[in-house]
Amino acid sequence: RIVYVNGEYLPEEEAKISVFDRGFLMADGVYEVTSVLEGRLVDFAGHMARLKRSLAELDMAMPVTDAELEAIHRRMVADNGIEEGLVYMQITRGAADRDFAYPEGATPSLVLFTQKKALIDSAAAKAGLRVATLPDLRWKRRDIKTVQLLAPSMAKMAAKAQGKDDAWMVDEDGFVTEGSSNNAYIVTKAGTIVTRHLSNDILHGITRKAVLSFAREAQMKVEERPFTVAEAQDAAEAFITSASSFVTPVVEIDGTALGDGAPGPVARRLREIYVAESRKAAV
Ligand code: PMP
Repeated sequence: RIVYVNGEYLPEEEAKISVFDRGFLMADGVYEVTSVLEGRLVDFAGHMARLKRSLAELDMAMPVTDAELEAIHRRMVADNGIEEGLVYMQITRGAADRDFAYPEGATPSLVLFTQKKALIDSAAAKAGLRVATLPDLRWKRRDIKTVQLLAPSMAKMAAKAQGKDDAWMVDEDGFVTEGSSNNAYIVTKAGTIVTRHLSNDILHGITRKAVLSFAREAQMKVEERPFTVAEAQDAAEAFITSASSFVTPVVEIDGTALGDGAPGPVARRLREIYVAESRKAAV
């Protein structure tokens, strides 16, 4: 694999990052994951907009121009022969003597790598996911897409230990925030799509934004509000969204099957629309 590190395209074995990089020492960095369909980038503009917001919240600068970052993404896709898969991009504050205060004048580190992955033809999308709910142990700025991912990683491991596919994280008041690396939705028995409203409690998913707009265009009813685990278990269906999973049905929550236990029609339809529209709009 060819990776990108601070201006260079290198075989992965030759890439180097400093031991003093604050991304490594303090999770002082942000990232984006953009999906690739037919060799083209899905919703790249959305990912760049969120990246800038994350950087601004942490007083970090873009290390390259927008045009350069787009060109680097494209070259990574081309050099690694990615027809379908993901581009991972990370910006950290850079290397400096370890200190909790942000260093002055550190040069940010920019790293990209790619991953080939069958996104459209996914086993999870066919079978649906079984999720377990776990306490949301993350910090209070989940809207910033930082590389500080141990809490969701622990939640996913706890879900796996229960034999489940993924974790849905739950706040102190019993409301679902989101999945370990995706936004969470239910579809009520009346057919309304419910997903938590945007705030600092969740990541503002790029896929979420697109899917909610497709749902509204298709005259589906959408409510952006918190929902409890009990409401989710009583729902007709459920699903998740993310750049790597698109729309993927959830068929079981904490051992309770939803509906007939198979992927629901709303999730299946939204996945079809999302894939078709993303294919058309990818650049
Ligand atoms: N929430 C969390 C916690 C995530 O890690 C992700 C994936 N990065 C998402 C939601 C989905 O965001 P997106 O649709 O932009 O991939």
